[in-house]
Amino acid sequence: MPPARAGDRAGRETGRGFGQLVAPAVIRRPLWPVIGDLDRHGAARAIGLTLRTGTPSAPRSQARQAARHKGIWRCEPLQAECDENHNPILCAACGTPFEMWDRQSGHSAHFVLDLERAAGGIRIACVLHRYHAIECACGIRTAARSGVGVLSTVPGRSRDLLLSEACLAGPALATFIAALSVRYHVSRARIREFLAVWFGVPLSVGTLDRCIREVGIACEPVVEDLLGDLR
Ligand SMILES: [Zn+2]
Repeated sequence: MPPARAGDRAGRETGRGFGQLVAPAVIRRPLWPVIGDLDRHGAARAIGLTLRTGTPSAPRSQARQAARHKGIWRCEPLQAECDENHNPILCAACGTPFEMWDRQSGHSAHFVLDLERAAGGIRIACVLHRYHAIECACGIRTAARSGVGVLSTVPGRSRDLLLSEACLAGPALATFIAALSVRYHVSRARIREFLAVWFGVPLSVGTLDRCIREVGIACEPVVEDLLGDLR
């Protein structure tokens, strides 16, 4: 699979995102939970799976941070309006294409909240993305998994940010949150209040912060072009 780029996030807005990347299953998760991460556990429970928490090889300092940042559980579990299924296309070992009638088993799932146009304005929709695995005749089990983008590392930050489709806020909602913050200078607390009051979607400040960072990284490839146009 070629290396993903920061623009992948923006690509999701044009519908090129989900369901196109297939690779052996790896559940990527941060070491300390935020609301979006905890929702992923809820999604896993919805399909009868249990996600591992933490990694045995995690550095001890990160483990201590994980213990300090326990996260906040959502008061009410998310209810998906619809499911979107993702199946692997090829066997990861021998490259044999899978057929529609091959037996599938659930592998992972996550919720995505995203902004949608509605008749009366805009709304936030909740979709449960289900990733399935298929066992090939060669004996290798291949699972579809969410796509990942560029890994952002900033000196001084305690944690790197990996762009991923497996996050709670979809691309349109993340862009909306970033616009409220950067263009309209609304504080994280006010954005949180705004989303909770007007859309009934409470998000943690940490999730809002991640959205703003993700959009910043996704915009990075076009910044130079924009500056060139302005000059
Ligand atoms: Zn195979």
